[in-house]
Amino acid sequence: MADKSFFIDTTMCMACRGCQIACKQWNMNPGTKTVQKGSHQNPEDFSYSTFKLVRFSELEVGGKLRWYFFPDQCRHCTVAPCQVVAESLNVKAITQDKATGAVLFNKKAKVKEKDFKEIRENCPWDIPRWDAKTQGLGKCTMCIDRVKEGLLPACVKTCPTGAMNFGDRDKVLDLAQKRLKEVKATYPKAELLDYESVRTIFLVIDERKNYHKFAAARDVKSIAYFKQLSRVAG
Ligand code: SF4
Ligand code: SF4
Repeated sequence: MADKSFFIDTTMCMACRGCQIACKQWNMNPGTKTVQKGSHQNPEDFSYSTFKLVRFSELEVGGKLRWYFFPDQCRHCTVAPCQVVAESLNVKAITQDKATGAVLFNKKAKVKEKDFKEIRENCPWDIPRWDAKTQGLGKCTMCIDRVKEGLLPACVKTCPTGAMNFGDRDKVLDLAQKRLKEVKATYPKAELLDYESVRTIFLVIDERKNYHKFAAARDVKSIAYFKQLSRVAG
């Protein structure tokens, strides 16, 4: 089985949240009780049982109201800072599947809260979550159980517009570059976010920060990730 990747074309997303529901269903995660706080985003953030979240941002740009939709999830990094940090803390809860490249959290492994905090702080996109009751880590699994059977991830299978795509990494990168070229003609600021270092590649047409605080990778250079990497490299 080849290295896999997602391509998420935000220009095609209409924020129906079908991906969010499919993710809950396939992973048998319970619904989250929410309250209306003036945004269509629902729930407010990721949790131990919410791996996929369509983020909404409503901004006035150039005197016009703009909506930005961002179907957020784990990036399945090529070198995963969460894993590097977990290993440096002797936490044996995070692995990378050799065949697909999926970064996997073992829900059964108990992780101390202080270790979880360090792991979360070192994820450039603020993805990992933790459950106080089970002490397990939670996030997107790449639907590895489906993928190993030749099926698409549940979120991709459900998406009715073509915003969510998945497949062999080389083909996904080709598709992403082709689509980037198409939209650049109309939207010169269009870009593929961090595509060389992640397996969840987002196409955006405007400034990253307009979509979501963590659409731009958080700078983790000062903390354990790069220290550990330099130890490995040295
Ligand atoms: S996005 Fe965060 S949680 Fe996902 S693999 Fe990368 S570092 Fe780990
Ligand atoms: S790949 Fe699976 S676990 Fe990950 S966001 Fe999509 S449905 Fe959820």
